[in-house]
Amino acid sequence: MTDRFATHEVTNQPPAFAAVNFYATDRALQEGVAHFGGAWAEDALHTYGALAGGEMMALGIAANENKPRFKPFDRQGHRIDQVEFHPAYHRLMALGVEHGVSNFTWRHAGREGANVARAALMYLHTQADQGTSCPLTMTYASVPALRRIDGIASQWLPRILSTSYDERFLPAQDKRGATLGMGMTEKQGGSDVRANTTRALPLARTGPGEWYELVGHKWFFSAPMCDAFLVLAQAQAGLSCFLLPRFRPDGSVNALRLQRLKDKLGDWSNASSEVEFHGAHAQLVGDEGRGVATILDMVALTRQDCMIGSSGIMRQALVQAIHHARHRTAFGKRLVDQPLMQNVLADLALESEAALALTLRVARAVDRAPYDAQEAAFARVATAIGKYWVCKRCPPFVNEAQECLGGAGYVEESILPRLYRQAPLNSIWEGSGNIQCLDVLRALAREPACRDALFAEFATCKGESRLLDECAGALAAELLDTANLEAQSRALVERMAIALQGTQLIRVGHGKLAHAFIEARLGQARRNTFGAMAGALDGNDVIEWAFAG
Ligand SMILES: Cc1cc2nc3c(=O)[nH]c(=O)nc-3n(C[C@H](O)[C@H](O)[C@H](O)COP(=O)(O)OP(=O)(O)OC[C@H]3O[C@@H](n4cnc5c(N)ncnc54)[C@H](O)[C@@H]3O)c2cc1C
Repeated sequence: MTDRFATHEVTNQPPAFAAVNFYATDRALQEGVAHFGGAWAEDALHTYGALAGGEMMALGIAANENKPRFKPFDRQGHRIDQVEFHPAYHRLMALGVEHGVSNFTWRHAGREGANVARAALMYLHTQADQGTSCPLTMTYASVPALRRIDGIASQWLPRILSTSYDERFLPAQDKRGATLGMGMTEKQGGSDVRANTTRALPLARTGPGEWYELVGHKWFFSAPMCDAFLVLAQAQAGLSCFLLPRFRPDGSVNALRLQRLKDKLGDWSNASSEVEFHGAHAQLVGDEGRGVATILDMVALTRQDCMIGSSGIMRQALVQAIHHARHRTAFGKRLVDQPLMQNVLADLALESEAALALTLRVARAVDRAPYDAQEAAFARVATAIGKYWVCKRCPPFVNEAQECLGGAGYVEESILPRLYRQAPLNSIWEGSGNIQCLDVLRALAREPACRDALFAEFATCKGESRLLDECAGALAAELLDTANLEAQSRALVERMAIALQGTQLIRVGHGKLAHAFIEARLGQARRNTFGAMAGALDGNDVIEWAFAG
């Protein structure tokens, strides 16, 4: 390494961000996992934390620098409709599958905290690469829907729960493991899936598990090399959910025609395609006409993963910012020692920990949902609240972290531009912000148990914080005024999310941090930018706690 050039010497540049164990260096994650019942999975998390903060960071760079390539034809001109990925993508997928990002919850089904531990695995993975998180998420989330039909479950679940990733383009029955995707969005409507025009006609009989022929298209169809997809199409009784494999049971290639790959803002390691179904064969999952209800089993979990993904992106942006500020000096002092920079970094650390705490709380509720009706109701409403707010906070958060690096944060060699491009995605897909807010209103209006579970959660910290108590009281009153609720729903859901985050921080035992967070987000002195916190919080302590130097 040459530090001395003819014209200057290289000084005051932070050292490269060395390999670290993303689990061992994240005390908030360790405490959260333990608090929500996942401590028994610590060994798996330490192992994956070391991989994510080491080998996988390099793989993430390579997989994003070498975008997937669409191969519509082979060299002899035959139609093949395949996508070629860089080896780094496959290695990231293999590590994710082997270590449980796509299957840990199901492989440890019934064990308390399994879903919390799996959320932590996803949180670690997404810090190294975000694109592969998409097929890993969809594979994980497909399980509850597939379980509905015995014939489908017995064939597909062993492949999905396998810890072997098999990248070969072969019929799933000939592979060591399978991955799953989903297709809902069409050109004429994504949020309003009832507008779907793809048609499904029975090949012989109708009913769950029977085979149909699908004709139509999907406007967004990510990870199109997955082995099968849960898709929506119109059958005689209405919108229905189907399992559409890449190969038919006789081993012939199914009639999917990839039209092109999307040229996306970010998410570069992952391929998202446009696709047509030319009489593709697919099996009905659930009853005809119950497609939305069936696929919601999957969507509830992919929305949970949007929260995890955005929390992970924020964590990675935060540690990069802290690392830089510790090693860069300006005006005679390290950046991390400058009071205003401390305010920025501490504020980001609070936001990141609040996002993680709510994410793990939702993961815990999903874990408990099969055994506990209140937790099921909480999971239902808190997923939509958290998906809205955690994902909405991600882009401004990453921008602020990027600014901590100055010009270096705008340059590709730092990971920040990639995180910045990725940041808006979780808020858009799987139901954009407004759709989440409307979903919260729907859950609260139609399911009294959701409302009870939400306010019971606030009540667990009653008396701990005047601001939290006032916020919960105001929300209860505002929900009674139904006249203008829809237009006001963002304002409501934002405060629900912040109050839930504050509640979790108190319950995890971070009293000082919790009160600083609550004061800065709900108090009189709240501001719109990060780094404008009032009060006497020791920023250095917060930064050190977030990522020990
Ligand atoms: C990179 C990427 C990958 C994707 N992968 C997949 C995939 O694999 N499978 C898949 O099925 N889809 C996928 N999607 C699609 C994604 O889920 C949709 O884009 C998203 O759900 C929004 O649907 P839309 O684009 O049709 O927008 P629209 O439904 O037209 O919505 C546009 C805007 O209007 C708002 N809006 C809609 N209805 C209302 C209302 N009643 N009141 C107020 N506001 C409203 C929405 O919140 C949004 O902000 C992907 C998208 C991206 C960007």
